[in-house]
Amino acid sequence: MKEILINGIRIRQGQSMNIELPIAKLPTHTLIDLPIFIRSAKEEGPVVLISGGIHGDEINGVVTAKRLLEEMDESWKLLKGTLIFIPLVNIYGFLSNTRTFPDGRDLNRSFPGSKKGSLAGRIAYILNEQIIPQIDYGIDFHTGGRMLSNHPQIRVDYTDKIALELAKSFGTHYVVNSKYIEKSFRKAAFKAKKRILVFEGGESMRLDDYSIEEGVVGTKRFLASLGMIDFSAEPQETIFLKESNWVRAKASGIFNSSIKLGDSVKKGQILARISDPYGQIKVPVKSPADGFVLGLNNLPVINVGDALVHIGNE
Ligand SMILES: [Zn+2]
Repeated sequence: MKEILINGIRIRQGQSMNIELPIAKLPTHTLIDLPIFIRSAKEEGPVVLISGGIHGDEINGVVTAKRLLEEMDESWKLLKGTLIFIPLVNIYGFLSNTRTFPDGRDLNRSFPGSKKGSLAGRIAYILNEQIIPQIDYGIDFHTGGRMLSNHPQIRVDYTDKIALELAKSFGTHYVVNSKYIEKSFRKAAFKAKKRILVFEGGESMRLDDYSIEEGVVGTKRFLASLGMIDFSAEPQETIFLKESNWVRAKASGIFNSSIKLGDSVKKGQILARISDPYGQIKVPVKSPADGFVLGLNNLPVINVGDALVHIGNE
């Protein structure tokens, strides 16, 4: 019988349990712990992690993971296997509206971490030692940055055929080629021969219903493809993008885009205009190639060189 072992606590097949893993105390001596929710079916099967908030200001991902946990508890019948939910990994960043930890580090660049390191390293160590060994697959929910919104997309390294097949079963509109990044959670899992899909949707510090819905439905398709839940959704055409690039500002000024996230664009098409605040100078922003709008800067005031529109190419 398969069992999950986290922090010395055994969760047998068929059991459900909520664990609070002690992390460290705040300077106020308030104890911070990491809540982990385990839901297991009687029948053995894959172990899937659903995580959000590795970046503490990416609230959309936290809410997506939270919604999946709510649906699990309210309406899903788990047919086999085990789900491990960690909806909010970076509690510190969540409290302070920041991507990073109080040590200034990005958890997603801190793997494999260390037991006695600073906070980001310690959390990376816990995920690397206690969670990755238990799972077969994971879906990690992220968003774009501040004022940078992403169209819902799964990011995988196209040289990893297994991950690519998993991304197909998620069935979101766009799948984007993204190389394994050193010291990331995704790479740490890959080194352990596990696969974590990174979902990107929306922007930090903002909730985006469409991205949440795409994340929830995609996860359900993914779990159904593993035979873990009963679910069938309208199939959606998935476009596989081999590369993606940011179109950058050729001038500073007021940025006014005329395209939407998810749009298909043609080479030479005007995506936006940059003007001075007086209407004397107008600079068009053109698409360098045919492609799809994956990400968009929502800041109206921009400087030369700023990333404006993220275009993916087939
Ligand atoms: Zn992120």
